[in-house]
Amino acid sequence: MSVRILKPSSIFDEEILLSRLKDLNVNFKAHKKLLRYIIQKNEVDIKKIPELPIKLLNLLQEEFTICSSKLLEVQESKDGSTSKLLIELQDGKKIESVIMRYGHVELDCFPQEELERNRDSEGRLNFKSRKRATLCVSSQVGCAMACTFCATGTMGLVANLTAGEIIEQLYHASKIENIRGIVFMGMGEPLDNYKEVLNAVSSMTDTSRFGLAPARISISTVGVVPRIISLKRDLPEIGLALSLHAPNQTLRQKIVPTTKAWPIEKILKACDEFIYNQNYNLKTSKRKRHVLIEYVLIHDVNDSVAVAEELGKLLAGKDVLLNVIPYNVTAVPYDYKPPTTLAQRNFVEVTRSFGVKTLLRQTMGSDINSACGQLVIEANNKGGCSDNIGDLEDIFANKKAAVSKSKEKQFSIKKNKVKSSVSGIKGDNSNTEKISHLFNFKDYIKSVLLMMIVLLFTLLSFRIYLKLKNNYSITTVYNKDEM
Ligand code: SF4
Repeated sequence: MSVRILKPSSIFDEEILLSRLKDLNVNFKAHKKLLRYIIQKNEVDIKKIPELPIKLLNLLQEEFTICSSKLLEVQESKDGSTSKLLIELQDGKKIESVIMRYGHVELDCFPQEELERNRDSEGRLNFKSRKRATLCVSSQVGCAMACTFCATGTMGLVANLTAGEIIEQLYHASKIENIRGIVFMGMGEPLDNYKEVLNAVSSMTDTSRFGLAPARISISTVGVVPRIISLKRDLPEIGLALSLHAPNQTLRQKIVPTTKAWPIEKILKACDEFIYNQNYNLKTSKRKRHVLIEYVLIHDVNDSVAVAEELGKLLAGKDVLLNVIPYNVTAVPYDYKPPTTLAQRNFVEVTRSFGVKTLLRQTMGSDINSACGQLVIEANNKGGCSDNIGDLEDIFANKKAAVSKSKEKQFSIKKNKVKSSVSGIKGDNSNTEKISHLFNFKDYIKSVLLMMIVLLFTLLSFRIYLKLKNNYSITTVYNKDEM
């Protein structure tokens, strides 16, 4: 699917803005300042931002807009835990994002474990107010993955969002709530829109912009193995969630039909490597990180004790947190039903008996159709994808050119940061090779400097030692003479 071109562009599409600034020979510091004022100081009038270069002001007025999308509607769930945002993109397409609040009201939808954890010594629920609002963002309009329990999957892939459009969801939500975390679990498969998602995360974590901790951002995938491997390099600190839904390939293909290309074992191996790398690098941290395994529990499909045992065996000993989500009834062409309470309880007990950390998630926001798998935009639904379900490999083969390019270029946010200061254009991959040399050279310089410091220190110590020794012998001689 071709990259959408917005006119005017969003100022949050950093790659485009920086490239235009380079054309006009404008200092990139102005770009940082611009975004800091817009995001952190809520400035909506660019003319009020002090000392912006006139060339930048003219450029912004002619070619850019602060927000290319419109917040059309906000629906609040009855218990106040959830707000669903309906956002209209520049070309009229619509997407949804969901604000989830864990902790400002007593929610009957909280997992029992969490309720117990939050009781004070007298047994009262003790939630802190609005400390943990998380935004569930969409990365695409519709989705090509066609998961059979998911309303978004019935839309097929309509469009990839630009990084700016992804960030604008956070921009809109930040006006409603103090967002502390992001989950890429809205519409779309984020690893199917890799480059834009990486660019968006880069902006979300930049301290001069949204300043979110990378560990508070999670990307969810059905298991695009090559991209999970790339993610280990590009966003090593990010949270990873895997939508598994079944413990074996046959059952999984019934629920996630596009997954034929990647056997479960390969997906779990990629996840293991990702989390091993994360925990290895965070070895000083006390809190071990986990891959979140999402498992939508569907009555008489994947909720039996036998399936739970198979899942328990599959995940035993792994650094995972199993999140069991009872199916939310939604508009899909299958006669799926939510599991019974007994089935939920039995399932969770069995997986826990294998030592797998398991959370039974209670539904949030189902009264406004914002619960897991319920996001769908009727207006965008142009026939769905159920007639034409390929598998992941086909989907990615269609993007062969793009994938092979990304293999060559190995898009990397870390490298881009350096790149910004070298070439000034974030996301311009033409300099990747130079950058990797730059990294090696930097390391080399560091080692040489370190060696010089050690040498200097040794010489100094030796000189001090000689001087002291000399003084001592003079004193001794002097003392002897005195005697
Ligand atoms: S569950 Fe996620 S990956 Fe699957 S169809 Fe829905 S949006 Fe796409």
